[in-house]
Amino acid sequence: MSEILYGPGNYMTDTFEAKGKRKKLVAELRQKGISDEDVLKAIDTVPRHLFMDPAFLTHAYVDKAFPITSGQTISQPYTVAVQTSLLKVKRRDKILEIGTGSGYQAAVLAEMGAKVYTIERFRELFLKARKILTSLGYSADFFYGDGYEGKPQYGPFDGIIITAAAPEVPEALLNQLKTGGRLVVPVGNSSLQVMTVVERTGLESYERSEHGKFVFVPMLKGIENGK
Ligand code: SAH
Repeated sequence: MSEILYGPGNYMTDTFEAKGKRKKLVAELRQKGISDEDVLKAIDTVPRHLFMDPAFLTHAYVDKAFPITSGQTISQPYTVAVQTSLLKVKRRDKILEIGTGSGYQAAVLAEMGAKVYTIERFRELFLKARKILTSLGYSADFFYGDGYEGKPQYGPFDGIIITAAAPEVPEALLNQLKTGGRLVVPVGNSSLQVMTVVERTGLESYERSEHGKFVFVPMLKGIENGK
């Protein structure tokens, strides 16, 4: 990854300090049970501080979610690690993400060699995330729209990751999975969700498994302000 200079104070630059903090974060994630080496390597590489609101810059490598614009959040690194591990990403896999947000999760997937398609319902976030990933040299396809519809014209996908809380598994997305493909989605009410994996095992068959409790911002229908 190249160094980029952006705006006053050059806060878009990766630094030795940030690299050191990422190593500590990776060690913390290992302690918390993350064992997928490809995921840990990507988290070690992607400069999370560049995806943060400047007000929270010094907390970039604290294992917590933080506010970004439009009342949304950048997911906790542990959550990113769990969801990415559950996706079982291989290089060149086609992955659809719903809920681009800051773009950090998309960058982690791109760093792992996935071909990333990502959808966001807030225009401001869509524009900002696209700009950051492009300046970091990651290629991903960004869409402004309602993720509930998926992107059938780009599918079928090896994996679909939803980074917002869905009241139930969005059925329309299941047939955008390849056979053997996995949908990773937090399912539940607004205060608590269960991380759910639905694997497509055949043309009409799916297997569902559950992987612990998490809290996400809600997956909402339509684009911002109900347009
Ligand atoms: N993956 C993000 C997490 C962002 S939080 C990151 O790494 O930072 C979840 C995001 O999902 C929010 O930005 C929210 O606006 C978006 N979202 C919620 N419902 C959506 C929908 N139906 N379609 C697309 N994006 C949605």
